[in-house]
Amino acid sequence: MIPVTWQPHAEQRHAYAGPQVPDGFTVMLLCGLEIEARGGLPKYPHWLWPECPTCRERAGAGSPNQPPSGLVARFDIDLPAYGH
Ligand SMILES: [Zn+2]
Repeated sequence: MIPVTWQPHAEQRHAYAGPQVPDGFTVMLLCGLEIEARGGLPKYPHWLWPECPTCRERAGAGSPNQPPSGLVARFDIDLPAYGH
């Protein structure tokens, strides 16, 4: 299980890898979306939104025996090749 920060967005709660970033920074969600980070405010109603199933699966919540292998690499190597 990797450390993730949950972030409400578009009526779902998504997660991104790592600790919470300051407001205004762009983060890559585990499901592949890029959004602007906003501070976690648990009292707000959007924390009642359902979890994004992709983010939940990739964050490992609910399946603690599932290794997070390949999760970060998937994003780091998703670049076009140069020089051809
Ligand atoms: Zn998501």
